[in-house]
Parts: sequence; structure tokens; C-alpha cells
Amino acid sequence: MNRKKFLQSGLLFPFINMDLHAFESEIIGSNESSDLMPVLFVGHGNPMNAIMPNAYSAKWKEIGEKIATPKAILCVSAHWQTRGTQVTFMEHPKTIHDFGGFPKALFDAQYPAPGSPLFAQKTIDAVKAVHITKDLEWGLDHGCWSVLKPMFPKATIPVFQLSLDYLATPEQHFQIGMQLQSLRSKGVLIVGSGNLVHNLGMLNWEGGPFDWAIEFDALAKTKILEGDFVSLVGYRNLGKSAKLAIPTNEHYLPLLYALALKTKNEPLHFFNESIDMGSISMTSLFIGA
Ligand code: ZN
Repeated sequence: MNRKKFLQSGLLFPFINMDLHAFESEIIGSNESSDLMPVLFVGHGNPMNAIMPNAYSAKWKEIGEKIATPKAILCVSAHWQTRGTQVTFMEHPKTIHDFGGFPKALFDAQYPAPGSPLFAQKTIDAVKAVHITKDLEWGLDHGCWSVLKPMFPKATIPVFQLSLDYLATPEQHFQIGMQLQSLRSKGVLIVGSGNLVHNLGMLNWEGGPFDWAIEFDALAKTKILEGDFVSLVGYRNLGKSAKLAIPTNEHYLPLLYALALKTKNEPLHFFNESIDMGSISMTSLFIGA
């Protein structure tokens, strides 16, 4: 099923009354121009990537230097799950060190980027599928800042986060993602941060990647290249490798937000294609020119 048929099927809209055709033309019929900001799905992996120069963070740095400077950055991080969807609305989000057992240098790391109540409000206005509430408590979790610190080290670009509603279905997450589209033409870089394969219960420190991790990573890449996002939204039907790759879906869902934003014929490419510690895929996606 191609994207247009997917939308026309109404598969994503069992829970909301809306004019599908108007919505489709808004999302697909326009926005083919090159003035759209790219969209990223970044495998963040080990929080130490924030401060430890390596091939992953080198690529993040390269992207930050290559793309047009965003007016703001919206992160959809695996590490912020809430009841209902929330958006950070503070002027100065704090750096959250939401991990344990790492060196002091990582706890000392800060990412003092300003927030963006302006674009947070535009996000609330853009998303009709759900009511997004304003958050003044969160900040920037490591799914967000560990990637942005190497990517935009000056921390001068405003950053805000959108939470993952843990009661929403994958279809609902995909739909929320689609409705963020207008932010791209306003200069907002949207970054989904998670991991395509993420099974902390099966880390393998000594050996190489598990066969199932390689298998699901490859399967997901094939589906992405084919534009078969229906299958990726319905990942629970993708067999045993998917079950092992996605034991819980918070690290996978940010990918769906990124895919939902790909416009027709828009180029994409993968980067950081690697599997760490047996069961963490760092495979990342760049959507846009
Ligand atoms: Zn994580």
C-alpha cells in the first residue's frame, strides 16, 4: 500500500472525526519544496555519546554543520512518556540527567539551550488529533540533549520537547507526527530520538549483534525504503524479530514521528548504521535534501 492509499484507507483515523481529504492535501499535496527543514530519527544509544567523541557523535556534529540553522528544535524523545501528550513550555528548560551509573563528567554536562514557548504554542495549534497540554516541569532529557550537544554545541537554538502519551496507539502516534508537518516550513528541525532495536534485557557486552537484531534492523530499513509505513506502524505483526527488537515501544515510537513527516518523493538516507552491545541499533534516518 502506498502512502496515499494508506491515508485514504482511514487506517489512522478510527478515533477522530476529520476531513481526511483536506488533511491529506494539506500534508501531501504541498510541502514538496526544498524550504522544509529536514527531519531526523536519531539512535541515541549510550548517554556517554553526549560527551565521548566517537563515530556516532561525529556524524551528529557533521549534520549540525551541514543543515540550515533551525529557528527551533523539537525533540520527540523515548525518555519522556506521559499521560496525554505534553509540550515543554518553559523559557529555560533544565538539563535532565535521567540515568544512573555513569561518570561524574556526564552528570556535570549541561545543555543550556533556551526553550521556545512560541513554537510550543504553534505545535499545540498544529495538532488537532489530540489536546496537547503545556508542561513547565520537564526540561531536556538525555534522549534530546545527548544528541544535540554534539550536533549544536553552542546550545543557542531554542529547544522544546513533545512527550509520548503512553496510552496512545502506534497509529495515534503516527497521526500526531503527521500533524507536526507545518512546523518544518517554519524552520523547526524535528528530531525523533530513540533506537530502532532496543532490548536492554538482552545486552551482549562481549559478542556481536544478535541475529534477530540484525534481522529487524534490516527489515525496518527495507520497509522504510519501500515506503511501507503501514507495516512499521503495525510492527507487532512483523514477527519474532520485532518482538525481541521492541520489547517496549518507547524507543521505537520516535521513528514513527519521523516517518509520518516524510513528504511524497522526499529523499532519505540512513546513517550510523550499527548495532551496539548486541541489542541496540544505532541506525538513524535523515529525511530531506
Ligand atoms: Zn534511550
